[in-house]
Amino acid sequence: MTPRRIDAAIGRAVEILTAAQRPAALTGAGISVSSGIPAFRGAQGLWERYDPEEYAHIDGFRAAPEKVWKMLGEMYTVIDGAVPTAAHLALADMEAAGRLGGVITANVDGLHQAAGSRRVIEFHGSFRTLVCLECGRHYNPVAGVLPPAGIPRCESCDIVLKPDVVLFGETIPVRAQEEALALAAAADVMLVIGTSAVVYPVSDLPLITARHGGRIIEINLEATDLSRVAAVSLCAPADEVLPEIARRVMDRSNPLCGR
Ligand SMILES: [Zn+2]
Repeated sequence: MTPRRIDAAIGRAVEILTAAQRPAALTGAGISVSSGIPAFRGAQGLWERYDPEEYAHIDGFRAAPEKVWKMLGEMYTVIDGAVPTAAHLALADMEAAGRLGGVITANVDGLHQAAGSRRVIEFHGSFRTLVCLECGRHYNPVAGVLPPAGIPRCESCDIVLKPDVVLFGETIPVRAQEEALALAAAADVMLVIGTSAVVYPVSDLPLITARHGGRIIEINLEATDLSRVAAVSLCAPADEVLPEIARRVMDRSNPLCGR
């Protein structure tokens, strides 16, 4: 997109968000890339070195959890070194200013919470807690991310714990799914950031907003299937355009500004 078209699209996004009563956001891997977390797919992705069928499938974990923890250790090191991006911070600022009802995320890195977002629906779970597949007990080992020291086991069952993320072959947690559907249906604007929104059921969420009469503002490096139905489609880095949009929406929403 040319700078002029980006400016125009930012202006339209600001208009729509300023008028919105119940705006919400949906985020994917694209919002976290500049935080230091590489996308799992692609040249730098973990799936280049670890076969996801073996390492990211629940059957693979059940069969050889110690082996999968080698990959998880690497993943935790990456996540531990990651910091929220300007886009994460902009969403947290909008929520604090009453201009965003919540964030649904397909990410498992916890960076929205680290940025200060309060209502975060983690559609694919989180790396920040662990679960025992035997007794269902959840562990919150440290305040931040678990360091990759050793392989954690359940205190009662002595079996290897699994990060609270949704692996292939597992279903989306029911509560996250219900909350996400309710937020998407109630939203009059859905900001879709850094996701091509092609993987079901995440892909359905913006369409649910649209079916209920809400509008979609898309921020993604490239156009997606969603671009056709979006009111605004910004093909630009979220780190660059979202802070600007957030600042202008919050200024416009403040009755003391421009007096
Ligand atoms: Zn247990």
